[in-house]
Amino acid sequence: MTSGMAQAPEPSAAFGDWHGGQVTERALCVLCPNPSPMTLDGTNTWVLLEPGSTDAVVIDPGPLDEGHLRAVVDAVSARGARVAQTILTHGHADHAEGAGRFAELTGAPTRAVGRGHDDLTDGDVVTAGGLDLRVVATPGHTSDSLSFALAADHALLTGDTVLGRGTTVVAHPDGELAAYLASLERIARLTGDGEVTAILPGHGPVVPDASAMVAFYRTHRAERLEQVRQALADGAATAADPVLAVVERVYADVPREVWPAAAQSVAAHLDYLRARG
Ligand SMILES: [Zn+2]
Repeated sequence: MTSGMAQAPEPSAAFGDWHGGQVTERALCVLCPNPSPMTLDGTNTWVLLEPGSTDAVVIDPGPLDEGHLRAVVDAVSARGARVAQTILTHGHADHAEGAGRFAELTGAPTRAVGRGHDDLTDGDVVTAGGLDLRVVATPGHTSDSLSFALAADHALLTGDTVLGRGTTVVAHPDGELAAYLASLERIARLTGDGEVTAILPGHGPVVPDASAMVAFYRTHRAERLEQVRQALADGAATAADPVLAVVERVYADVPREVWPAAAQSVAAHLDYLRARG
């Protein structure tokens, strides 16, 4: 099944070798100690700071882990700065659950799409101490997924839309495949015109060749869609549980603990195919 499939670009760090740290002039990753098959090495909390400025932007404080939240605050203070704004790439707990506590620790407002937060809209520019961050709406993993372009460093912070290793989940029913494919196309355009050369993902190591990774993501998604179509034609369509039948055929080679996530993605593929007859 894997023969002839697109190969992922080599990750910039092997599992266990990614520890975060300063990856571009303005971006520092504080890695949360919550590794798992779904969160890879753990959640990447990003601290963005313009050189010479004292106002930092934090993206995704992570889960409600007091030690981690305090480590983020300490990393900001160690640079002589304070947290001016906190932004969420999306509402999943491993990115957002600690946001309330983090706001208590920092006094900084939290911004995201929906869920009672100040809404951010595509094209908004978040500014803090000379740092400019442009909001790029990238729904698909979830409906509220945002990416952020840090033009000064030619970097895009992608949350779970593009990861540093492996591929992501289309979290059906909130996530939608058509939206996800459109978001990948949008990121491909940003990498194509050179605005973005590096991806700073929500999980896994920094992606130094954004263009290659996005090309792989698009090919992988097209291959998966074809596999799902084939599995349906091979009998899964008439199984008692078509989603499970597709997962058994298409995800036979992935650990069973990620099957629930695979089932979400498969359900998203089935919706996509259904909507297109
Ligand atoms: Zn997520």
